[in-house]
Amino acid sequence: MRTWPALQLSFVPELQDLLQAALVDFDIAAIDEGAPAAHPDWRVFFQDSGARDTAAHELRKSFPADALQISPIDVPDEDWAARSQASLTAIRVGSIVVAPPWDIGNPEVLAAGRAATIVIEPSMGFGTGHHATTRLCLAALQAIDLRRKTLIDVGTGSGVLAIAASSLGAVHVLAIDDDPDAIESARQNLALNPATDITLGVLDLRHAMLRPFDVVVANLTGGLLVATSTRLSSLTAAAGQLLLSGFLEHEEQDVCAAYAGWRVQRRLQEEEWVCMTMLRSR
Ligand code: SAH
Repeated sequence: MRTWPALQLSFVPELQDLLQAALVDFDIAAIDEGAPAAHPDWRVFFQDSGARDTAAHELRKSFPADALQISPIDVPDEDWAARSQASLTAIRVGSIVVAPPWDIGNPEVLAAGRAATIVIEPSMGFGTGHHATTRLCLAALQAIDLRRKTLIDVGTGSGVLAIAASSLGAVHVLAIDDDPDAIESARQNLALNPATDITLGVLDLRHAMLRPFDVVVANLTGGLLVATSTRLSSLTAAAGQLLLSGFLEHEEQDVCAAYAGWRVQRRLQEEEWVCMTMLRSR
């Protein structure tokens, strides 16, 4: 039976956000966060043992051993990915419900009033709606009048934000990701949400030649938002809006400094995660 190289991570709860942010930098296949606990115990799965060993080395350098215990393990493949995702349920952000196919009619989330339901098949990447930054972006998108606006979703993952934007009235939506597996999962999710107007592309933000859009959504990482500020700025039309997320509160100053020609129109925060809607300063 195939086994998956993984790291068992036990840590103090205060480390959760920092750890989640640090893990974004590695080539991870999936994270099994287990049940919420006073002392969280995660399993992080990697594509190969080289990626696992690099991550273990970097994490040991970044976090003190008494706050984070790291044990390399090899987990037999018993469809763990499907099992770790199967317990996901529908979530609601404003008037948008993001539901896995098995929880579309969830009475609790629908009881809160009229909602547009987006169906997302949980995959190994981000974008099931269960990450704080996805929820923040879903809220920020609903605060904008997207009707007849063109929009690009940079780093679309499962396609969740592009699908939401299209259902909120955005047109000619382009969703890009440099990870072909992400685009494949987005393609499957578009099929589950047929009433959408979205083009998908395996493209790297840093090299793609693209025209400007009325709205640019970039739920990436603090480091990448800083490194690509010129690109993301030129991708946004003159009077356009730029939604930035994926960064932590302690990275906010650096992100704002990289977007000096912009002002914050709306700022949302959930735990340590931040989302900013930006407009060009006059
Ligand atoms: N938009 C989704 C997923 C965000 S995760 C959501 O909000 O839930 C960030 C995504 O950005 C990942 O799928 C990753 O593959 C993609 N990404 C990272 N660097 C990129 C780059 N340089 N160009 C395009 N996509 C990139």
